Amino acid sequence: MERLSVDSIFSQSLESLQDQFALWGEPRWRAGQLMEWIYRKFAGGFDECSNLSKPLRAKLKEKYSFSLAPLVTVTGQEHETRKFLWKLEDGNLVESVLIPAGSEEGGRHTLCVSTQVGCAYGCRFCASGRSGFVRDLTAAEIVGQFLGAEAWHRRQSGAKDDRLLSNIVVMGMGEPLSNYENLMRALSIINAPWGGNLGARKITISTSGLAPQIRRLAGEEPQYRLAISLHAAEDAVRDQIMPVNRKYPLNELLAACEAYQRAKGRMISFEYILIDRLNDTPRQCDLLAGIARRFHAHVNLIPFNKVDGCAFRCPPPDVIQGFFAHLQKRGISVTLRQKKGGDINAACGQLRLRKMGEGELSR
Ligand code: SF4
Repeated sequence: MERLSVDSIFSQSLESLQDQFALWGEPRWRAGQLMEWIYRKFAGGFDECSNLSKPLRAKLKEKYSFSLAPLVTVTGQEHETRKFLWKLEDGNLVESVLIPAGSEEGGRHTLCVSTQVGCAYGCRFCASGRSGFVRDLTAAEIVGQFLGAEAWHRRQSGAKDDRLLSNIVVMGMGEPLSNYENLMRALSIINAPWGGNLGARKITISTSGLAPQIRRLAGEEPQYRLAISLHAAEDAVRDQIMPVNRKYPLNELLAACEAYQRAKGRMISFEYILIDRLNDTPRQCDLLAGIARRFHAHVNLIPFNKVDGCAFRCPPPDVIQGFFAHLQKRGISVTLRQKKGGDINAACGQLRLRKMGEGELSR
């Protein structure tokens, strides 16, 4: 649903710009110059594109907007997880989270981007689902989070050529696969050599389990990684925490994952939020190990982060460690995310909810 920024420059492909330039009687290669200003030099507006003529810049201004959502807040410290809150043109707020990518990435970072304002899927452990669905983000608003983070980094560091982001995870507010077209368009721009130039294997799409869209994604050309928000290893438990499971129960979801894996190879991982006395039992651990083994998949364990108004709790440290150790003993590739984000509201959707509570939302 392209509502606000149908003519945003950030949703244009190189090809569409080349066609537009040709219509204006401009050489097609000039479109590449413009893309360089946007995606290499992170220009702040058409007037900074000094190798484009003034008349061309005037035509561009008339046809396309060049406005990034302003930053409302940044929380977190250097070398730790940071959270950005952006204010969209219509006053809605969305979040992105910046996560240090580790020393092997040379100090670069992963950006977790949002794809919707709010979310319709109502997972019970999630802040985004609590205020309901507002709207899909446009492709430009998704690309804008990537550009906004890079622009912020340049302002902070003063470095002109230094890139901040090495990876993108589509795991912020919203169910990415229910905003399929805009997501695919945005990722194709972030992935393109003339655009964000991030390899498809550096881009991970997360889903709560929309089986038909997973099958559709399997047919797309780029080799994006897929992360399944599993959070329970049998229907009886998953039904309690993720309403989507009633529509696409585990057997349907896992069959779609198999189709994805057949098409893409080993590109699937499972996210598993550990919730006290719900999905942290030895039985769930065994079932999870069975699923992970079937897919040769990596499991990312995430201790539950407190969400305002949600009664769930994080399991005690010994239960978390025991769950982790048991998966390791079963030969599963597993990581345990350290609890870093709690104090900056890093559970998805929380910062937005709190700002809404403070009256930041304009409608
Ligand atoms: S976990 Fe994802 S799909 Fe579920 S409510 Fe939150 S944002 Fe929506």
